Amino acid sequence: IETKLPKVGTTIFTVMSQLAAEHKAVNLGQGFPDFDGPPALREALARAMAEGRNQYAPMTGVPALREAIARKTERLYGCKVNADTEVTVTSGATEALFAAIAAIVRTGDEVIVLDPCYDSYEPAIELNGGRAVHVALDPSDFSPDWQRIADAVTPKTRMILVNSPHNPCGAVFDAADLDALAALARKHDLFVLSDEVYEHIVFDGALHQSVLRHKELAERSFVVSSFGKTYHCTGWKVGYCIAPRALSAEFRKVHQYLTFCTFTPAQWALAEAIETDPQHYLDLPAFYQAKRDRFRDLLAGSKFRLLPVGGAYFQVADYSALSQADDLAFCEWLVKEGGVAAIPISAFYENPPAGQRLVRFCFAKNDATLEQAAARLKAL
Ligand code: PMP
Ligand code: GLN
Repeated sequence: IETKLPKVGTTIFTVMSQLAAEHKAVNLGQGFPDFDGPPALREALARAMAEGRNQYAPMTGVPALREAIARKTERLYGCKVNADTEVTVTSGATEALFAAIAAIVRTGDEVIVLDPCYDSYEPAIELNGGRAVHVALDPSDFSPDWQRIADAVTPKTRMILVNSPHNPCGAVFDAADLDALAALARKHDLFVLSDEVYEHIVFDGALHQSVLRHKELAERSFVVSSFGKTYHCTGWKVGYCIAPRALSAEFRKVHQYLTFCTFTPAQWALAEAIETDPQHYLDLPAFYQAKRDRFRDLLAGSKFRLLPVGGAYFQVADYSALSQADDLAFCEWLVKEGGVAAIPISAFYENPPAGQRLVRFCFAKNDATLEQAAARLKAL
């Protein structure tokens, strides 16, 4: 058969989690917490099911959740969004990314992605007849080089996909990045797809630079987020997309036939959590900053060189003092012989820089897990 994604294999997250299970390794590979979200949230989910909220939700999402998202967005980013026409609840950020791409990308269109980038972007673009044009982030600090990005624009460029805080590198945009993005999008009339799933995980007092803070960008952007990250419930797969009315209308045409709607009880529970306990997401930066610092302290004196982490819950580490193997081979060795699973950074690149020796560790883990992993990593 003629296949649609000939270059695509099984996602690295699945590959590494399977290896971790097989070798009984500490799994710092696939990004997910090994602890649960707030007890009140889980109780609200059970209550929603007990109260009979078990049938299809409205196609666009439970109104109470869309309203809670709109209020939170205005409070945090000063951006008024209409809960009825501009917010759509999705089955995780993955669905939102796919639906935004499917709504906008036509056959032959180009979409700029910044490498390293999350692995679902390119297949979604290709399945919709588009082509991902990869531009590397600056390898010294993983910041965007706006001149290089501008040079990659062609008459076929339809959209640019950005991600801050960044998976896998932990880099975050500053306000100047938003201005540069806005200038580029204005000049070439581009749509923006902004993956902000780690919006509440930004460190050292920095502000999350949501494109929703920038009026001009908000007018041409699809902004995607995920409750999996914010409420430690990656398995619930609830996310959302915020976009101006006309873009949301197109987005919903795809969403209604992709999934139609998302698990109803979780939507009621999340609506309640956002409204009754905003402190949960306001405390998230400090919560994860403590984990970042703990993990880095535990690895002091190891052979890994730790790169700076400005946001998200991943630590990128250079292992060149330990091995000259490529990063996939190193991760396979590490999970089998070292007892720790990590993710090779080359998995996020079209063309990984030659000689780059970087792996990603997820630090969204209990202290005991971080301690056990660090002890194994220090012994190498
Ligand atoms: N984008 C990025 C950058 C992510 O890290 C993830 C989760 N790993 C997703 C999207 C997908 O989020 P969800 O699990 O809500 O589909
Ligand atoms: N987003 C998670 C990560 O980066 C993985 C999600 C998945 O396994 N699809 O590790």
